[in-house]
Amino acid sequence: MKVAIVGGGIVGLTTALQLQNELRNAQITVFATDFDNTVSHVAAGLFRIGSSYSGPTEKITKEWIQNSYEYYDNIRKTKEAPLAGITTISGYMFANSSPETVKSHWIEDLVPIYRRATEEEFNLVGGGWKYGSFFTTLLTECKLHLPWARKQLQDNGTKLIVRKLNSLKELTFNWNLIFNCTGLGARSLCNDRHLVSMRGQVLKVKAPWMKTFFYGEVDTYIIPGFNGVVTLGGSRNFDSENMKVCPYESAAIRERCENVVPALKKAELLREEVGLRPHRTQNVRVEAEWITNEDSKAILVHNYGHGGYGVCTAPGTTKYAIHLAKEMHKSSVAKL
Ligand SMILES: Cc1cc2nc3c(=O)[nH]c(=O)nc-3n(C[C@H](O)[C@H](O)[C@H](O)COP(=O)(O)OP(=O)(O)OC[C@H]3O[C@@H](n4cnc5c(N)ncnc54)[C@H](O)[C@@H]3O)c2cc1C
Repeated sequence: MKVAIVGGGIVGLTTALQLQNELRNAQITVFATDFDNTVSHVAAGLFRIGSSYSGPTEKITKEWIQNSYEYYDNIRKTKEAPLAGITTISGYMFANSSPETVKSHWIEDLVPIYRRATEEEFNLVGGGWKYGSFFTTLLTECKLHLPWARKQLQDNGTKLIVRKLNSLKELTFNWNLIFNCTGLGARSLCNDRHLVSMRGQVLKVKAPWMKTFFYGEVDTYIIPGFNGVVTLGGSRNFDSENMKVCPYESAAIRERCENVVPALKKAELLREEVGLRPHRTQNVRVEAEWITNEDSKAILVHNYGHGGYGVCTAPGTTKYAIHLAKEMHKSSVAKL
């Protein structure tokens, strides 16, 4: 089996890692326009999934999320965890508009602790919030995780090639199975008008004393990562593809976060980052089809459109994508 994966972000590399474990004899090649500057690199990587996230059905979405949590948690239990950028983290969600806002439909029954915040805990932060919850979850820092994943892949014979594809059909002559994990790139590759950019801007500050995350309503978040670097966010601009840092947005993010945790006023600014989340107005697309080009054909499995939750959910959608590929392969063999 010759497998091509297009995309070097979290979805593409997770696909390659899972395939490497499942298809020991497959020749796997990952193609990407860029392996070092992807949207995945910008994400804070907190395992928290908004209620708007959706797969094709409730059951399948739940499976994706459960499988993703297990995947990261299994790595977290190994000695590789710090190298792979995976750790546990606890923190708070606060809101004013309704108690629903501090609930997390997808993860409440999955994570080890999810409870209401106590009166004393409300006093820990500024902002005068009405509703609050406390939970423990996982964090995957892609700036560590992606290089770690690439090393695992290369050590085990997977090829990583920098190449921009103008069409997925370019691959059908040499590969039997193709995974399309191109994030926002799928919009032109698949002519998918349901895929839109949801721009986000974050600040990275040095604040090694911060160990707890804080998530306030209207996209205010403070998420401690590795090596004392804390992500301050954020923003969601639909249909904007402006990759320039906006100074007004940075100032607003800083002010909102310092309102919640005043000690952040003394945190040194390291950098500002912008990323375009691959948001799909329909559900995340994980689907298999045949792709033909002249007299060649291959199985093509799409796995893109994860919006603001691609780091959390990539392992689960990937497991499902591989399952679809196997089913398609089995049914074609049965027909022969
Ligand atoms: C500010 C911000 C904060 C975020 N925080 C979180 C968070 O806390 N938790 C979370 O789960 N998610 C978060 N996200 C969302 C997350 O980053 C995305 O959902 C995820 O990174 C998407 O991964 P991907 O692999 O699909 O896409 P990408 O990371 O964009 O990777 C796509 C890959 O495909 C390649 N490619 C595209 N087109 C082509 C082509 N034609 N030929 C060859 N290669 C191609 C690209 O070069 C790249 O390697 C955040 C995003 C932003 C912007």
